[in-house]
Amino acid sequence: MVLDRSNLLASLNEDVFDHILEGLRVRDLSSLSSTCTWLREACMPFVFNYVHICVREPIQIEHAPFFLPASAKPYVRSLALLDECWDQQCGGRPRPKYLYTDDFLLCGAYPGAALAERLQELPRCRSVKMHKNNDLKHGLSWDTLLSVLSVPHLRKFELRFQCFCPALRPGEELSVDSLAPLTAFRYKMEYPRDIWFFPSEVAALEAVLGKLCDTLEELVLPSEPAPMSTLATLSWPRLREFVVRGSPSTWGALPAPLVLLFSAMRGLRAISFKINPLDNALPPAVWPRGFVHSFPWPELERLMVSYPDPSDELWDHLPPTLRALSLRCWPHVSSQRRFAFLGRMHPPRFGLVPTSSDLLSILRHCEALSLDHLEIEYRVDDEDEALLRYVVTTFPHLTSLAVLRYRRNPPIPEECGPCIRRHSLRLLDSVVSNCT
Ligand SMILES: [Zn+2]
Repeated sequence: MVLDRSNLLASLNEDVFDHILEGLRVRDLSSLSSTCTWLREACMPFVFNYVHICVREPIQIEHAPFFLPASAKPYVRSLALLDECWDQQCGGRPRPKYLYTDDFLLCGAYPGAALAERLQELPRCRSVKMHKNNDLKHGLSWDTLLSVLSVPHLRKFELRFQCFCPALRPGEELSVDSLAPLTAFRYKMEYPRDIWFFPSEVAALEAVLGKLCDTLEELVLPSEPAPMSTLATLSWPRLREFVVRGSPSTWGALPAPLVLLFSAMRGLRAISFKINPLDNALPPAVWPRGFVHSFPWPELERLMVSYPDPSDELWDHLPPTLRALSLRCWPHVSSQRRFAFLGRMHPPRFGLVPTSSDLLSILRHCEALSLDHLEIEYRVDDEDEALLRYVVTTFPHLTSLAVLRYRRNPPIPEECGPCIRRHSLRLLDSVVSNCT
């Protein structure tokens, strides 16, 4: 008797069978799908659920068979396009003629109309990520961006390490008729880096966000080109998570404090201010002392503020809904050391890292909160033990606590980190023991 294993699998509850397939690695799915026609069809949605394509030349976009096999297209739900165009091989240095573009700022590997056609051929695709893996000033043209953002079935768009319309071509205008009803728009640039942005980048973001604000639930922006004044004038009825990353380089002339600029985002559940200071300039207070305003985010659950300012009035107004608070450096000091070792940034400026006293001062304004998660990063001073004791006694419901603690000057080298962690744990343990 021959055992028909495919029929045995077919007798499984459909949800159970799908759950098994979901747990398999892609190479295992590929092996399984090679066994018979029935299993191949069953595996296809899982094999091609996420597709990553390296784009080196425009013909990969223009010629449909070079983009994806036709048999895979019905199953793609999430697509990532990595820009590795040959024009980047010269590192952006002037050369007599680029292969696919006349302006190195604008990638020539993504002809807009052809890219829109390819995405239209993926009827279940909801998420597109476009990225590159270097810090070259090289990005996507308005034509390319508009083609992607106009695909009606798209819901999530991410652009990583590529500039958002760094230049306009002659005669090009930033006009937008309609865009896909995106729920997530994530634009992330590499950090640390030299601080720069392009005027057309700001204008293009203004044009796009003005159309997307009604549907967005998640918004991630770099601080430098973020059109702050425009963000303040739009309504954001569905926005739940907002992240701003970068430096305060362009915030010297902010039209209003951050608490006012983002006050139209009333439904926010999560806010992250991931700001890395420049030279000796700390990020501005979210709510400057003396500024009269009402708290704009009554349902806030998660808050991250980098290089927090003890004089910030934000700490006096946090709502009882808040469950997770992160007061840290961005990037973490340990990451800054690593970047400095690689020559990608200056060594961390320890003088700007908040002290135990700073964080104790801030947390004393938060004693009414019932936090589940707390993250603190600071330099040790005379209030170190008081801070740790305060954390343990004031927030007894914590389910996670991250403490990144740096010994007073001279800063300890990275290899001594575990000693610090052991010391902190002993101290916390003794504090907990004394409290119970
Ligand atoms: Zn390119």
